[in-house]
Order: sequence, then structure tokens, then C-alpha cells
Amino acid sequence: MTKEEILAMEAGKELDKLVHQQVFQLCVHDWKLRYSKRNDNSYYYCPKCKDKFWGLMPESTPRYSRDISVAWQVLEKIKELLSGHHFDIHFCSDGLPEFHIDGEVLVATNEVPEAISKAALIAVLETKNEK
Ligand SMILES: [Zn+2]
Repeated sequence: MTKEEILAMEAGKELDKLVHQQVFQLCVHDWKLRYSKRNDNSYYYCPKCKDKFWGLMPESTPRYSRDISVAWQVLEKIKELLSGHHFDIHFCSDGLPEFHIDGEVLVATNEVPEAISKAALIAVLETKNEK
């Protein structure tokens, strides 16, 4: 995946999945409904990581690119990934967020969670290129 492809994506499930896999290296759950005779209840099961979940069907990933409350976790992760770099966020006079890495503009979009998610993916990409 290239920087241009990341920047061209829209906020939503696909972007959330990429953040979940690439940034946090976690399973994108593929929930299947199962039934437990012993508990006489149905539950959700992910065949990929063997995780189980009782209750209403959970989302396969948190809504990183759409929900600011989870986007902050992504921001913390970016800081960790880019520890050797100068990384900061500016809010322009019109309120739009801009992410900078070593003085270069990384992402500028209308939505903060979307911008954070894209910045994180680009950060992963850049740190991979360094190795
Ligand atoms: Zn899973």
C-alpha cells in the first residue's frame, strides 16, 4: 500500500480494518454466530483468533476513523511509532487538523479521527521503509 492510496481512502470500515491490522497488529474479527448447549445461549465466535463474545454482535474493529474517543488511542500509537521523529498536529485557522512529521505535512482532512487513522498508517509505512 502506498501513501497516495491511504490518503485516497474514506473514513469507514476499510480504513478501520487497516488501522486494526497494520497499526495495532490485532485480529479483524470475523464473528460467526454459534450456539452453546451447555449454556443454552448463543454467542459469537471468531475462527481466526478463537475469540468468543457473548451478547450483541460486536463490531469487528473499533471505529478508529469515525470515533474520536478511540482515535486518541491511535494517536498514542503514532507517537510510539515515530519516537525518533518530530511529530505534531496543528489546527489551522479554519479548524482543520494538519499532521506534520519532521516539518512535512502528512495528512490534512476535515475529520480528526480520519486524519489520525491515515497518519498512523503512513507512520507504519514510513517506519517500515526505514528498516
Ligand atoms: Zn478474531
